[in-house]
Amino acid sequence: LSEKLSGILDSLTRRGALSEDDVNAALREVRRALLEADVALEVVRSFTDRVRSRAVGAEVIRSVTPGQMVVKIVHDELVAMLGAEGETLDLEAVPPVPVLMVGLQGSGKTTTTAKIARRLSERNRRKVLLASLDTRRPAAMEQLAVLGEQVGVATLPIVPGQGAVQIAKRAMEAARLGGYDVVMLDTAGRVTIDEELMEEVAQVKTATNPHEVLLVADALTGQDAVNTARAFDSKVGVTGIVLTRMDGDGRGGAALSMRGVTGKPIKLVGTGEKIDALEEFHPQRVANRILGMGDIVSLVEKAAETIDAEKAQRIADKMRKGKFDLEDMAEQLAQMEKVGGMKGVLGMLPGMGKIRSQIEQANIDDSIFRRQRAVILSMTPHERRNPDVLKASRKKRVAAGAGVKVEDVNRLLKQHRQMADVMKSMGKGGRGGLGAALGN
Ligand code: GDP
Ligand code: MG
Repeated sequence: LSEKLSGILDSLTRRGALSEDDVNAALREVRRALLEADVALEVVRSFTDRVRSRAVGAEVIRSVTPGQMVVKIVHDELVAMLGAEGETLDLEAVPPVPVLMVGLQGSGKTTTTAKIARRLSERNRRKVLLASLDTRRPAAMEQLAVLGEQVGVATLPIVPGQGAVQIAKRAMEAARLGGYDVVMLDTAGRVTIDEELMEEVAQVKTATNPHEVLLVADALTGQDAVNTARAFDSKVGVTGIVLTRMDGDGRGGAALSMRGVTGKPIKLVGTGEKIDALEEFHPQRVANRILGMGDIVSLVEKAAETIDAEKAQRIADKMRKGKFDLEDMAEQLAQMEKVGGMKGVLGMLPGMGKIRSQIEQANIDDSIFRRQRAVILSMTPHERRNPDVLKASRKKRVAAGAGVKVEDVNRLLKQHRQMADVMKSMGKGGRGGLGAALGN
């Protein structure tokens, strides 16, 4: 795909900004890739709309091709739509914390229940109780008991003749008495969604008030994934998604479908039949897989690098001219986080070799950049361009907006003045005062 994209777009003359035709040509290929990855049609549509609105008119940065530019936008939007990295189970509640597992039969609920239980007990040292609410298939309860034993987690004793709600209540009671931290409720599934199943799951939910309701879904289900997700979310309400069979051949389009339809985070991913095959969700990886391009990663990285380098260069140019307002400083702070801190940016200025050791000794805490940037971002554009207008009352407002103290705002302004001075003196050919600007 990336090759086709680049091909289409590179054959177009450079126009500075991406035109609607450029973008539409590229999006036809993207659309095909998404459908091949089994992303649901409606999600494909809303995704391409999002990309179109972002891409049309976007400036093509000088040193990347229009093709790379679109690929980068598509990739970034895909990652954004897939959601944040490092979503975890939320178990912050009064124990025993109920976790309800829902999904179609065969989606991997029982297996995933055991996988999560193992992780919680081994990694997080939680005392977990498993309970199977699958009253229809006698083997299902037995299956969970066997898995529980395998991972060293207790299972609720089986009492024949009880309904799902009864078992769920019994599990909560047993957990309370036994001092358990977490109760994992594994529900019965059907081959397709039906009212009776939904009703039963809803009743269990009412009876136990679960802190997490995890929808377990097979990553290979494709277009159907949407209906499943929508039905469970609207009738029961889910808090997160676990995608199983991500070890399979599928491109993982279900991840995008599920997420697009429910807006709920994908919290974990099943990557095999073995009990330890459970992983965190990595939106970047899944995005690459959905787009199905081996070389997209390097392409995107290259584009991103070039874009960053150009921005840094622009700032360096401005700095050299002695023009350096708080907006420049904010952008510089953002760049610093990316290019490896103060050293990276200063290293781009000419004539810095001699004072490199001084820079290195300055020992700057790069984590502070984010906080400083927050301060600048809570100023008005006028204030950023004219720092002198920031008197006491404005400073107070800015500090409150950024969640810092007025002293922090003062410190930032002082640092900005020092940096601007250094820039000015360097612009004139001198290099004095850099140490002071760095806080030495
Ligand atoms: P349930 O009906 O939803 O409880 O599904 P099960 O947990 O019984 O799983 C059905 C089948 O899927 C079993 O053979 C599991 O071993 C298998 N399975 C579950 N999760 C995964 C996974 O992440 N990858 C693979 N390859 N197989 C899985
Ligand atoms: Mg099961």
